[in-house]
Amino acid sequence: THFGFETVAENIKASRVASVFSSVASNYDTMNDLMSLGIHRLWKDHFVRSLDPGIATSPFADQAKQGQTILDIAGGTGDIAFRMLDYCTTVKKDTTTSVIVSDINPDMLAEGRKRFSTSPYQSAGRVSFLEANAEDLSAVESSSIDLYTVAFGIRNFTHKEKALAEAFRVLKPGGVFACLEFTPRLRNPLMNAFYKRWSFGAIPLIGQIVAADRDSYQYLVESIERFPSQEQFKTMIQDAGFIIPGQGSEGGPRGWEDLTMGIAAIHKGVKP
Ligand code: SAM
Repeated sequence: THFGFETVAENIKASRVASVFSSVASNYDTMNDLMSLGIHRLWKDHFVRSLDPGIATSPFADQAKQGQTILDIAGGTGDIAFRMLDYCTTVKKDTTTSVIVSDINPDMLAEGRKRFSTSPYQSAGRVSFLEANAEDLSAVESSSIDLYTVAFGIRNFTHKEKALAEAFRVLKPGGVFACLEFTPRLRNPLMNAFYKRWSFGAIPLIGQIVAADRDSYQYLVESIERFPSQEQFKTMIQDAGFIIPGQGSEGGPRGWEDLTMGIAAIHKGVKP
């Protein structure tokens, strides 16, 4: 690597991604706050707002409208799902939209279940859980999903093209694919150098001190390095058949949105 650390990621095969997340599951939320200095919360809030999930309801409507079905892939401990449901309920006054939280890792899903167990969303049947590999969503019917989200998940997938093809298959025509992910490089080279020092230096160290697990956190940092650039990832989304929305308007002229100097980015695609 750039800073002389051993490339742990290369020694960790796809099957080991599962054990990485099993070992980080119980302190995942605390670690997220520590590693990102809390910024991941702002990114997630922005991600959800920019998607404007849910259906507009009117007190004058004579029939209750059918809510959306949102599929949150690599949903882990349910951070995105919670925000989606909060947004639908408080901003849209929509109490019918539901979220399927899907993850390959049963330990991460168990943390999510625990968090939802005391929420009104659970009792209202607005959240369900699905253990599945994003590359094979055979448990999800074709053209059944309104909104597919994946936050900080896709860089861990072995075959990203397969996951994109599955996203395309399960979405309804007009349905939206949305991804929030770290980028391999910041726009400003100097800031990039500082940032890489922070991520390669501090994050494995915080992992070691707080979670007694240096290797898992070093893997997480290295998986960011190996993720395609914003431009390359946009092309992968197009190659899967999606239309990139708002090029030149809402989504920015490039077809994605950079967050915080380009540390993370939001990509969207619409199924025609
Ligand atoms: N979306 C959550 C968030 O933003 O807090 C969790 C992100 S966490 C960094 C990445 C998640 O991706 C883990 O829960 C992991 O189990 C899951 N994951 C890794 N490979 C996967 C795959 N092939 N299919 C589905 N989920 C996967």
